[in-house]
Amino acid sequence: MVHMRAAIYLRQSLDRYGDGLAVTRQREDCVKLAHQKGWTPVEYIDNDVSASKGKRPAYERMLTDIAAGKVNAVVCWDLDRLHRQPIELEHFMALADKHNLLLATVTGDVDLSTDNGRMFARIKGAVARAEVERKGKRQTRAAQQRAELGKPLWPCRVFGYTDDLALHPVESAMVRDAYRAFLSGSSLGSIAREWNDKGVPSTRGNKWSANTVGVLLKKPRNAGLREYRGEVVGKGNWPAIVDEDTWRAARAVFDTPGRRFAPAPGRRHLLTGLARCGVCGQGLKAQITRARNGSRYPIYCCTGCFKVSRRMGRVDDVVIAMVCGRLARADAVELLHDTDRPDVEQLRADANGIRARMDGLAAAYADDDIMTPAQFRIANERLAERLKAVESLLIAAAKAHLYDGLPLGSDSVRKKFEGLDLDRQRALIDALMTVTVLPTVRGQKVFDESKVVIEWRAQGVAAA
Ligand SMILES: [Zn+2]
Repeated sequence: MVHMRAAIYLRQSLDRYGDGLAVTRQREDCVKLAHQKGWTPVEYIDNDVSASKGKRPAYERMLTDIAAGKVNAVVCWDLDRLHRQPIELEHFMALADKHNLLLATVTGDVDLSTDNGRMFARIKGAVARAEVERKGKRQTRAAQQRAELGKPLWPCRVFGYTDDLALHPVESAMVRDAYRAFLSGSSLGSIAREWNDKGVPSTRGNKWSANTVGVLLKKPRNAGLREYRGEVVGKGNWPAIVDEDTWRAARAVFDTPGRRFAPAPGRRHLLTGLARCGVCGQGLKAQITRARNGSRYPIYCCTGCFKVSRRMGRVDDVVIAMVCGRLARADAVELLHDTDRPDVEQLRADANGIRARMDGLAAAYADDDIMTPAQFRIANERLAERLKAVESLLIAAAKAHLYDGLPLGSDSVRKKFEGLDLDRQRALIDALMTVTVLPTVRGQKVFDESKVVIEWRAQGVAAA
């Protein structure tokens, strides 16, 4: 038997990660195939950059070697690795015919010595659709190889980690604190501000925004989880910054439509929107008013009925005293017991399931006349109600972190509370109580605390 020398032709795809994995991968598969056939491999490698300019030195060298009889077989990953133009294929087939060249591809043998083989090769070259599928296959293989190597999928240094995938001492602590702050009610904007004030930029040297902080906190890698095509596919081989529960709770908050943890940007007052008008029930707004002596001061007022307005500082004082009084009580630690963490994953799946059913219902209603409008409304409302219940459980799950870092049951809680950012203060107030401001008798000068009505929510009840 003639000893077969096989040219292994490798063409490197544009390699996003710049680490030569693409060629390594093709080579592994091709060498394996050559060995299976009992052929001795000889490598020819071109890169895509020169190939796209029409220069393929290794390919030309291979053709020369085929013509010279130095190799008598060709192995490649797929025909599209071998040729870019139909004309190249024709030339190659002529050469193959002349030298009885054998061809093997990882994705399937093509016998160019038969009519059918040639037709197959031509059709294959012409069908663009196939390229798309093969691309997917190569990428899947790439992901698989990365997984085998235990290599993460990010191309350059990411925030929170060093170049060699250890925890970055400063940044990882910042990320950890950010999760805690976010889950206890801070807005992404306030976290971004804090980081910018600290002077720690993103890994690209940019200032932080609410958006970029949000993108960062959503990353599964922070919990040491590997992601592929937007799905968590397993554990990574790098250290986690936060535990999986924390990350999932944060994701749940992100996934909850109309999350209450995201007050409008620029909200600068403790009780706007939280405190309600005692006459019409609308959320109070902040305004600046002018006293008779010309001095200006901020007030909460109702812009629905205009029957309630009160000095902002005085109302804030009452509410802060009540909240801190509650948190300083010896039994305040019991607040933590209400916050059993439910199965966030399951809840989110439930929520998505209900949303899908609502979509389906709406589509069915739009498409045919099976349902009357009344039937549709009832079915839809029923689903909406269930969705609301599931979403409130998701929010409750996230709130398990509401009291993190507060010295519950101690008088020092007040100092700590006053040092919290506004979003977090608001979240705590919102979790513990409702605030209603009643109208006062016209002309009354003295601030009447009894007109600021505090009602404890379920978990605050014990305090009342
Ligand atoms: Zn009102």
